[in-house]
Amino acid sequence: MKTLCKMKKDDISTCFKKLTDITCKPKYMCTKCARVAKDEKYLCRAASLAK
Ligand SMILES: [Zn+2]
Repeated sequence: MKTLCKMKKDDISTCFKKLTDITCKPKYMCTKCARVAKDEKYLCRAASLAK
């Protein structure tokens, strides 16, 4: 699976179920694209959201 950052509209609708799982409890945010995910592997430039 590619990173969320590289997803296009078609990819998002195709993978919607999986994306809800990846994004519902995010632990990382991409500092370039502002996308969030539970695992840094889904982002191109992940930074931890933990304070
Ligand atoms: Zn990104």
